[in-house]
Amino acid sequence: MTRTALGPPRRPARKRFGQHFLEAAWVQKVVDAIRPQPDDRFLEIGPGRGALTAALASRCRSIVAVEIDRDLAADLADTAPPNVRVVAGDFLETPLHEWREHPHAYRVAANLPYNVGTPILFRLLALAREGVLTDAVLMLQREVAARLVVRPPHRNWGPLGVFAQLQADVERVLTLPPGAFRPPPRVHSAVVRLRFREDAVAVGDYARFVHLVRGLFMHRRKTLANALREMEPGTVSRAERYPVALSVERALADAHLDGKRRPETLQLAELARLSQSHTSV
Ligand code: SAM
Repeated sequence: MTRTALGPPRRPARKRFGQHFLEAAWVQKVVDAIRPQPDDRFLEIGPGRGALTAALASRCRSIVAVEIDRDLAADLADTAPPNVRVVAGDFLETPLHEWREHPHAYRVAANLPYNVGTPILFRLLALAREGVLTDAVLMLQREVAARLVVRPPHRNWGPLGVFAQLQADVERVLTLPPGAFRPPPRVHSAVVRLRFREDAVAVGDYARFVHLVRGLFMHRRKTLANALREMEPGTVSRAERYPVALSVERALADAHLDGKRRPETLQLAELARLSQSHTSV
C-alpha cells in the first residue's frame, strides 16, 4: 500500500480485476448522467475505492455494491455511509438473493471492468428480463459501447446490440478519455444508458431467438442462407443436404427474407420473424 499526503493509504490497482479508478474531476459528470433520485435503490457493480458510491449515496435511498476484490470491499464497508451495503463477491457468481433485499426494481450504476464487461452486460440483460432492473448506466470500453448503440446495417451489429435493443432503449451519454481513470487504461471509454422496457418486437420463444442470433453472427461474413445452413445439424451428410436446404429456404420465404443478404444487415424485426419461422434450429 502507498500512503499519500492526502487521505488514507491506497492499495495498488489490481490488473486482474480490471481496476481503473475514476478520477475525482469526472465523478460529477458521471453522476449527472446517472441522474439519481431520492427514492432510487441502486446496484453498483465494482465500486472499487468508492468514488461513485460516495457521490451517489448522498443522492439516493440506498446502494448495494458488489465488489470482487475482498480488500477493497472491506475498506469500503468500513468507510461507506449507512445507506450503502457492500457485498464481497464476483457479480457473475453472486446469487440474486445475496444482494437483493427488496422486491423493488433496482437501478444499476457501474464502471465496468473491461475484462468482464460483456458477460456482466449479458447478466444484466437476463436480470432485466426477470423484472429486477429498471435501467443501467454503465461505463464501458468505447468499442463495446459502439456495439450496444449501433443500428443495422453495420459491421458492429451483432448479438450484444440485438439483445440489448430488443429489451431496452440504449443511448451513449458521455465519452471519457483514458486520463479520466487512474491508472489510465489503453482504451477510450463511454457511458451508456439502457432503459429496460417491453420487447420492441415479439420474438416468440426467447431461447430459440438467442440461439438463432448467436448462430447467425458466428457466420457474419456468409450470406443468410449459408449461415443458416451452417447452423443446421446434419450438413455433413450428403443425404441430409436436400432437407436442410429445403428447411432453410422455407424459413427464409416465410420470413420474407432474401437469402443473399448478410446477417449484419437484418433489422431486429427481421431477426424476430426469422426466429419464428425457422422452427428446425
Ligand atoms: N467504480 C470504481 C471507480 O469508478 O473508480 C472502480 C471501477 S474499476 C474499472 C472496476 C471495479 O470492478 C474494480 O473495483 C474491480 O475490482 C471490480 N470488479 C472486477 N470484476 C468484478 C466482478 N466480476 N464482480 C464485481 N466486481 C468486479
